[in-house]
Order: sequence, then C-alpha cells, then structure tokens
Amino acid sequence: MKTSTKAVSLLLSGLLVLSCFGCGAKESPTPSPEASPVQNAGLSYMAGTYEGKAAGRNGDITVSVTVSDSAIESIEITDHMETEGICATPFAQIPEAIIENQSLAIDSVSGATLSSEGLLTAVEQALTAAGADIAALKAKVVSSAGPGEAMDLTADVIVIGGGGAGISAAISAAEEGASVILLEKGEFLGGNTLLSGGQVNAADPELQGKIETAPGQLETLKGFLEEEDESTYGDFAPALTALKQEITEYLAGDTTYMFDSVELHIIQCYQGGSRQDLDGKWYRGDYDLIRTLCENSLDTIRWTAGWGIEWKDELATVYGGLWKRGHQNTGSKGSAFFTCGQPYAESLGVEIMLATAGKSLIVENGAVVGVNAEKNDGTPVTLHAEKGVIVATGGYGGSVELVKEYNNFWPELPDDLTTDCAATITGDGIFMCRDIGANLVGMEFVQLMALSHPVHLDSTGLQSAPENTLYVNPEGVRFVNEYAARDVIAAAAWAQTDGIFYGIDDINSAAVRYTQEQLDGWVERGDVWRADTLEELATQIGMDGAVLADTVATYNSYVDAGVDPDFRKDVMALKIETGPFYATPHKPNVHHTMGGVQIDTEARVIDTDGNVIPGLFAAGEVTGGIHAGNRLGGNAVADALTFGRIAGLNVLK
Ligand SMILES: Cc1cc2nc3c(=O)[nH]c(=O)nc-3n(C[C@H](O)[C@H](O)[C@H](O)COP(=O)(O)OP(=O)(O)OC[C@H]3O[C@@H](n4cnc5c(N)ncnc54)[C@H](O)[C@@H]3O)c2cc1C
Repeated sequence: MKTSTKAVSLLLSGLLVLSCFGCGAKESPTPSPEASPVQNAGLSYMAGTYEGKAAGRNGDITVSVTVSDSAIESIEITDHMETEGICATPFAQIPEAIIENQSLAIDSVSGATLSSEGLLTAVEQALTAAGADIAALKAKVVSSAGPGEAMDLTADVIVIGGGGAGISAAISAAEEGASVILLEKGEFLGGNTLLSGGQVNAADPELQGKIETAPGQLETLKGFLEEEDESTYGDFAPALTALKQEITEYLAGDTTYMFDSVELHIIQCYQGGSRQDLDGKWYRGDYDLIRTLCENSLDTIRWTAGWGIEWKDELATVYGGLWKRGHQNTGSKGSAFFTCGQPYAESLGVEIMLATAGKSLIVENGAVVGVNAEKNDGTPVTLHAEKGVIVATGGYGGSVELVKEYNNFWPELPDDLTTDCAATITGDGIFMCRDIGANLVGMEFVQLMALSHPVHLDSTGLQSAPENTLYVNPEGVRFVNEYAARDVIAAAAWAQTDGIFYGIDDINSAAVRYTQEQLDGWVERGDVWRADTLEELATQIGMDGAVLADTVATYNSYVDAGVDPDFRKDVMALKIETGPFYATPHKPNVHHTMGGVQIDTEARVIDTDGNVIPGLFAAGEVTGGIHAGNRLGGNAVADALTFGRIAGLNVLK
C-alpha cells in the first residue's frame, strides 16, 4: 500500500470529519427546566431528560434518558444507523436491564457487541450529564443466575448455527416431518446472512428475458467463443462446450434482451474462483458442487417464497458478481431470511435454542450422533441426533486473527485490518469437524470487500452496480475495471494511497439503488460527499478537480463507445454526467472466507481419507470447495440456502 504525506493529511482531514460523527462527540445536553440537583452521593441525579451519543457499529447511537432525583426512569433510542435485526435485541434488552437493575454493569448482547457497547456508552454519557456517579452505577453488578442444571435433549436432526444455511437446513428437514433443534450461539439468529445485502444469484431466463442487453455484454459472450483450448478447463470443459453452443445460438438470433444460462454461471464461478496461492499452487472450484449450486439456486429462491419472502421482479449485478443475476427480496435484505424464516421454522416445530454454542461433536462407532453444547450462562447441554447433525456455523471472517493465521493469498495484510463480518463467525464448526477427522479445503483464501467504508465497518454509502459507477484513487485517477472480480479490485485498491478509493456517482446512477432520504442522510453525517459539479466534489475530498473531471469525461466517452481501452470493462451502462455528483470513500476489509469443510453434492462431510463421515452434514460458509480462491458476489447466500436445503433433506435419508 502506498502512503504519501499529503495524501495522509488529506485522508485524515476527511476522516476527522467522518469520525466526529462516529466518535460520540461530547455535546453538553441541556437539562430540562425542572432539573433539580441532588447533592447526595451514590445513585442520585439531577432530575430531567438528557441526551447521550456514542458510536455503534455503523454510526452514532443517540439516546434520551429521563431520570428522577433517585432513579433512571426511561431510556429512548432517538437515532441510530445500526443494522436492522442486529440491533433489535440489544435495543430491547439493554434499556430494560439498566432500568430494572438501576445499573450500568449490563452485559453486551452476544452477536451485537458493538451496538450494545455504543448504546451503553451513550446512556453513560447522558447519565454523566445528569450528575450520576458512573463508577457506582458500573459497580452495581447484576447477579447472574449462573449455570443451570445440565440439559439432555434428543431430536431427529441437530443443526449448529442459525444463519442462512442453518435456518434453511432446519426448515427443509422440518418440512419433511423431522424434529429439529437449531443451536445458535448468539442471542438472535442471523450471522453474516443477516448482515448481507440478501442478494442471491441464479440464472433466471424469465426475468433476464425482460432486461435489455447492456453494451459490452455481447463482447463478453463472444470472448467465450474465442476460448480454443478447452482442455485447460478440466472437469469444466463440457460446460464450456455447452456454453459456446448456447452463445452461438443466441448471437444468431435476437440479442435485444440479456443472455444467461446455468452453464454461463458455472463457467464464471470457475473463472472467478480459479486462483493461485502465494506458494504458486492452483486452486479451482469443485465442478460437481458448482453445478449443484448453479442448477438449484433459482429453485431455492422460489422455495423461500414459501417462508413468506417476496422477491422483486428485477435483477441486480452484485459487486464482483460478473453478470446481472442477483435476486433481491422486497424486505430488509438479509433480515428477511429471519423475519420470515424464524416464524416459519417455529410454525413447523423447529426448536430454536439461542445463546447456546455447539462445542464438540459426539462420535460413536465412527458416526456422528450428537453435539456437546453450552448455554451462555454455562449450562451444559447434550444433544442426541437420531438422524444426523448439520454444521452451519459460517466461516471465520469474524476473527481477523484467524484470517491472518490462515491467509496464504494476500501478500500483505495491514495491522489495522478490520472485518465487516458478524463477531460470532469464528470458525467453530470448521474446527469441530476437523477435530473428528473432516478434511479442510481452501482455508488460505480470504475475500476482502473493497467497497467497505474506511470509518464504519460496513458498506455505508453508495455501492452502485458496477456497470453504473466508476472508481478513482485519491488523486482522481481511475485505476481498475469496476466490473472485475472482487480480489482484482481489492488488490488494485491496496496499491492506491492508503488503500483508499472513491466510488463516483451522479444523480442518475445514485437513484438506481438509493432513495433521496438515504443519500441526504449519508451526506449529512459526513459519510459521503456531494456537490453540483465534479470540480467542487474534488475540492471537498482534496483532489485535483481538473483531474477528476478529465477522468470522468474519458470514462463517459468509453461508455458511449461501449469499449474501455484502459481496463477492458466489458459492461458499462450509465455515464456520470448529471449533478449532483457523489463520492463514497472505500477501503478493503475482511468479508468472507472461502475455505472450510469438504462436502459432496449431498452436503455430506468428507474425511481426510476421502470417505463420508456418517451422520455429519455441513452447509454454507463453513464449507470449502465451491468458491475456490475468490467467491463471486451474490453466490454465498445462494450457496448457504441451497446447500442448507440439500443437507436438511439428505440428513433424513
Ligand atoms: C456485510 C456482508 C454482506 C454480504 N452480502 C452478501 C450478499 O448480498 N449476497 C451474498 O451472496 N453474500 C453476501 N455476503 C456473504 C454471505 O452473507 C455469507 O457468506 C452467508 O450468508 C453465510 O451464511 P451461513 O449460514 O453459512 O453463515 P452465517 O450466516 O454467518 O451463520 C452462521 C451462524 O452460526 C452461528 N454460530 C457460529 N458458531 C456457532 C457455534 N459454535 N454454535 C452455535 N452457533 C454458532 C453464528 O452466530 C451465525 O448465526 C455478505 C457478507 C457480509 C459480511
């Protein structure tokens, strides 16, 4: 990563503006007129209503706390940017616990630590203004009941992990009439699936048959016809042959509307995932698993409609997805899988045990027959599985330490590397399976999300479809094909000053995905810059206006021509030409781990000798082999839901 003094100071001035909004600036709250100072020490207050503000996961959390002269009476969360679903539990539980116990010694909610800590700090700030003795409030320890009596439970199927793969597996087994217990270590379901954009890839001829072919897509298709040496595709060669035939027929007919097929999806998974590690060893996706994913993901989407999820009849190109096949639900993105999936699962009789972590697998006579688990209060739980165990605990992207330990793909990862993954995603299931002999594949490949925000951990700000936006470095110069695979963009980003770059949008590209309210909110909070001209926009960021204007003019000419001689971006749709213009800062962080437990197409776990481990199934990010060295954007939720469903069905066989 390059660093220049000028660029650092520009960056810092930019980040200062941003972090002022994110660091819980100590504004002096105004006590209400009826405030009456109470002088005695201990738990006494100046009665009134006070505001407090502190940084949560995605931005500030603002609270309004009302106290009498002797008690905390009410806590209202008046503003926040936390992820729906994640904040629901801490925002309900923590204020209630503070008031009930008149204490600030309240535990964070597992799985929502940053939102919990932000809320607690905001309340502490308000109480400080109310004259509270904070040390006394923190010393007032809330007594915990401690571990309960050991529990011993039996079901047909035990699912470990309540993200997308886990809820899918539980539902599919329960729909077949099985009794299912689903263990979730956090205090709510979701994992990375809850945080996700909820975009699910599937070739969908019906919807794609209504979308006009974008300039450049035909060139991409013709490029496949030029692939002469099919033998280099190994197992994938027959899929390439079939794809060429499909493309030839398509190009001979009416090309007004988009082409897609299962074969194109398969070949793009292959090309997007085939990567070398730092030792020069090639790693390619497992053909059978990829075919299973690509053939079944559309049916999976339709199946989830039965959970109550509604799907839009338009598609998106997911960043790094390489083609427009991302299905989006009409609800709140990743949350929808749980707002709909949890009640549906419960209606089928699935028993969901929250705050209960799977610890180890129980093996008898070579078969997995149960799980040793522990509740968060220390209560031991032994679970017996009549039919089998499904591991769906996600990857290990929540632990930057593990990422650094296993990484053998990125030549250098910065010390201050962050992650946008859920904190509970710490490889538990991978290690549980490994400990009983499962084979692990591709553990050295970690995906970085280049579009994360440099200040917030997530994707705050605009993330327009790659065909509608362009990326420039802090000097205002374009540096990469925005339509490229994720690792290509992340690697190019690291080579820019401080690893920072900016997505540049105009009002038309911004309006494709975002409402005016969202755009105004980001600009007001200082997370995104906006200006009527490109020159003014550049000035705000500390960039040379003439350089940015020139970069955009050149890019627009490529959109007109449908050819990008600089970076060979093959799909370009919108020009950046109508103000107001937007600039969103981006910096890569950890997003996904490609490696994990080896499975077969029936989601059965394979041991180090290549044999199936009886009774053990796995699905989702806990597995390896599908996404190989680089996952296509939009393929992970498809994978989790599809293989979760397959595991839930096959465990009963
Ligand atoms: C911010 C973000 C956005 C994303 N957007 C997209 C997108 O739009 N499309 C896409 O395809 N992919 C996306 N991804 C990737 C995708 O969300 C994940 O790869 C996928 O959802 C993983 O699903 P999963 O069920 O395997 O794991 P998860 O959804 O992570 O669920 C694993 C669950 O297991 C629980 N768990 C862990 N250990 C234990 C244990 N010991 N005992 C019990 N429970 C345990 C966790 O708490 C968690 O709830 C995104 C990822 C992130 C981080």
